[in-house]
Amino acid sequence: MPHFDRSIAAFQEAQKYIPGGVNSPVRAFKSVGMNPIYFKRGQGSKVYDLDGNEYIDYVASWGPLIAGHAHPRVVEALKQVTENGTSFGAPTEIETELAKLVVERVPGVDIVRMVNSGTEATMSALRLARGYTKRNKIIKFIGSYHGHADYLLIKAGSGVATLGLPDSPGVPETVAQHTITVPYNDLDSVKLAFERYGEDIAAVILEPVAGNMGVVPPLPGFLEGLREITREYGALLIFDEVMTGFRVDYACAQGKFGITPDLTCFGKVIGGGLPVGAYGGKKEIMEHVAPVGPIYQAGTLSGNPLAMTAGFETLSLMTRERYDELEEKGAYLEQGLRHNAEKHGIPHTINRVGSMVGFFFTEGPVTNFEQASRSDLKRFARYFQLMVEQGIYIPPSQFEGMFISIVHTKEDLDRTIAAHDKAMAALAK
Ligand code: PLP
Repeated sequence: MPHFDRSIAAFQEAQKYIPGGVNSPVRAFKSVGMNPIYFKRGQGSKVYDLDGNEYIDYVASWGPLIAGHAHPRVVEALKQVTENGTSFGAPTEIETELAKLVVERVPGVDIVRMVNSGTEATMSALRLARGYTKRNKIIKFIGSYHGHADYLLIKAGSGVATLGLPDSPGVPETVAQHTITVPYNDLDSVKLAFERYGEDIAAVILEPVAGNMGVVPPLPGFLEGLREITREYGALLIFDEVMTGFRVDYACAQGKFGITPDLTCFGKVIGGGLPVGAYGGKKEIMEHVAPVGPIYQAGTLSGNPLAMTAGFETLSLMTRERYDELEEKGAYLEQGLRHNAEKHGIPHTINRVGSMVGFFFTEGPVTNFEQASRSDLKRFARYFQLMVEQGIYIPPSQFEGMFISIVHTKEDLDRTIAAHDKAMAALAK
């Protein structure tokens, strides 16, 4: 049984100086009832905590580390760049290099603007959508997360396709009223919303594979339907590919599913573990952004050479073949987890897209947040503890997926499946 004495002490110290001891709430491990683990080092597919425990990592810093921790190519490039200065607040060539890679790979992106986080990417894309269409309202899906901008922290109003309510104190109702929330994978609700408010809907924003309610893929026809409705009403379709971008496919989710949005948001993998976000799309729309157009958006550290280098090196590693390998690894892990859960009679649903793997403690199917919410959260918390005790670090929340990287080995996956087998056996008792 591993011990966590140093992590416990570090958390106590942190709580004196940082709200809740953490700089992002999920890190507090509240939903799994444990002390957060403090990490000291990451190498390849493994992470090491303050107490010297080793884990196979499936959190990957919540997605960015598709090439694993401290990939030698990324580290070497970062060392060289750092020695030449980390930021100028002026253009550098590496910004164009990264932008070129994005434009070449992503069907919906003619040009792209770099920002510092996924939150900034979605905020900026929505400002652009509103400025471009001269409309106010947006549609988002219940259970999706698009960062912490006011008008995106919205819970569903009562009834189908109604105006939203603030999800957090500090979000004015007048702001929330411009966000319409509807269930994921539910085209009828989207249609209803457009029938009611279509004249004033600037955009539909969605995760093309939902990754913030566990992993929930789009049902056949869902993305196609959204493309048609938005076109019909003159609203923009925005894919928030902060999680799926360069994760599920070489050409992102839009390439995988063959649906081209008007605007796309990026984050996570595009920064290779450094703070990067980006938004891009059709040239005709993107040219409404300053300095070409009137819609303002800026950033002191946007496109800084350090962040651009991590992104560029990471994307350069991610050839098409790498995605085939990730698909194979994902399928292998999925099969192992399913076999274990069936063997021990644990009610479950596994949803997977490439290297994003969601394991729900509910019989399913899970196609939206309401269904995901039927999961047995107490069982999940126990499962998380059982996995951590066996050296497998999975996301500390039922509503997040596991991420596989290009450096996870078959041995890593086999060890994970064996630990999962033991966890399922313990849960079945
Ligand atoms: N959009 C999606 C789909 C996300 O998963 C996240 C973060 O998890 C964000 C936006 C916000 O990104 P960031 O945390 O970099 O602000």
